[in-house]
Amino acid sequence: MITMSHNLEKELQDHFRFPSFRPGQKEVVSSVIDSKHTVAVLPTGTGKSLCYQLPGYLLPGAVVIVSPLLSLMQDQVEQMQMQGEKRVIALNSFLTGTERMRVLSQLKKYKFIFISPEMLNLQEIKKKLRALSISLFVIDEAHCISQWGYDFRPDYMKLGSVREELDNPLTLALTATATKEVVSDIVKSLHLHSWEEHLFSVDRPNIALKVEEVENPELKEQRLLDLVASLQGPGIIYFSSRKRAEAIVERLRSRGIDSVMAYHGGMDQESRTLIQQQFIHGQLDLICATSAFGMGVNKEDIRFIIHYHLPLQIESYLQEIGRAGRDGKKSIAILLYAPGDEALSYHLVENELPNEFQIERVIEWMDGSSHNTIQYHEEEVRNFAGLNDIQWRLINDFIQSMESTEYLQSNMKKFIRFVEERTSLKKKKIEEIKNWAQSHQCRREKILNYFDEEKKIVIKDCCDVCGIDFEPFRKKEEKTEAITFPFDWKSYLSTILLKE
Ligand code: ADP
Ligand code: MG
Repeated sequence: MITMSHNLEKELQDHFRFPSFRPGQKEVVSSVIDSKHTVAVLPTGTGKSLCYQLPGYLLPGAVVIVSPLLSLMQDQVEQMQMQGEKRVIALNSFLTGTERMRVLSQLKKYKFIFISPEMLNLQEIKKKLRALSISLFVIDEAHCISQWGYDFRPDYMKLGSVREELDNPLTLALTATATKEVVSDIVKSLHLHSWEEHLFSVDRPNIALKVEEVENPELKEQRLLDLVASLQGPGIIYFSSRKRAEAIVERLRSRGIDSVMAYHGGMDQESRTLIQQQFIHGQLDLICATSAFGMGVNKEDIRFIIHYHLPLQIESYLQEIGRAGRDGKKSIAILLYAPGDEALSYHLVENELPNEFQIERVIEWMDGSSHNTIQYHEEEVRNFAGLNDIQWRLINDFIQSMESTEYLQSNMKKFIRFVEERTSLKKKKIEEIKNWAQSHQCRREKILNYFDEEKKIVIKDCCDVCGIDFEPFRKKEEKTEAITFPFDWKSYLSTILLKE
């Protein structure tokens, strides 16, 4: 039986060799080992993983961690293995059929089981998990639950019923960025009836915030090249467009900057994992990425984040800049804004979700068929209605949630309304970040206000409005510690991916 008599500081030292907790960690760990369902908002880079890892060592059963991204899972499994934990596994589509069967047959061996939400929806997997004694069920990056959140994953919506099927295990939801609205969405979706909330400031005081207005897109590219030449890396440049990210990589290379790669959702999983690993281990200095990159990437020494395009909302901006300065050292976030940039954002939002015409095409296809045949004709339906990945997933999920197709028309009206509401909310969010970029008020204060917080401390190098001394961010003398040995990334990767 677990009691509060644990000396948590001692446990922290024994298991992790950290001298002290970071703000919020102890509260969250205590709440969990006190058997309270817990929702925790701790700033990016604080050490949210420890909030389930430490309880994992103190509780008798397994810790199941739901994680939204394959690369994120691999990264965390690798990190835990490097800390010496062998009883850790990732259950995801990286496993071959045979591997999966072997892992599932020995699931009891593992203390920490990372799992993708898709896998968690499979009956076979749920059955195996039910046979385990689960001490803690963790939802990492829990903001993905919120339908209104910037990173909504339809599969996350089903976690409430999955929890119930697993007999309501003790649950911990973790995120770095959630407004009050999103926190209540998380609680509701997980079907929690009583819970503790530990909400800490979203602020990252060691990151200077700068918005730089440029007159037009051509000048923006020039300015970006200058910035990259003068800023101390490593750094990430975020784009809303894959094409643009790739084009800039070419431009940078033509300028002699070689240590740069693109990263976006259009690339295959293997290359993505490879690039992420190379960046983490210092073989790459710069990544030109879309928002597909970075969730949970734990690289301590990222010195700058540049946004080439306007992020879709303040939450995603905060997540993305939060990848900088995890070592606590000074870092800078620069948003390059050209008037009219928001047009691209609006375009993206309008195309993210299926429109009325596409929905009607799906109804047309379905006429006369039943609701559970559609999923077996994915390609045909997608071509017929012209649906991208997200559009297809949303429509398919919605159709699967219907008892029958009897009320298809009226249900679809409901769906169209859902899409319209979501689109208009997203447009409101674009408006908010645009206003933030154009405002002349302290950037940090405005962000904090957005999360119902107040700015309480004076920060040196706070933002461009309050004033930033650029010197600390300037490129230092070139280091000459080039990697000389030919590192075989492919075989290294295959060992970490297949290791148990
Ligand atoms: P988050 O999920 O909050 O973004 P992580 O859990 O990935 O952050 O942890 C970020 C880094 O902080 C990791 O390298 C981790 O080892 C380190 N860390 C976590 N807790 C502590 C602590 N109490 N003291 C020192 N370092 C810590
Ligand atoms: Mg994390």
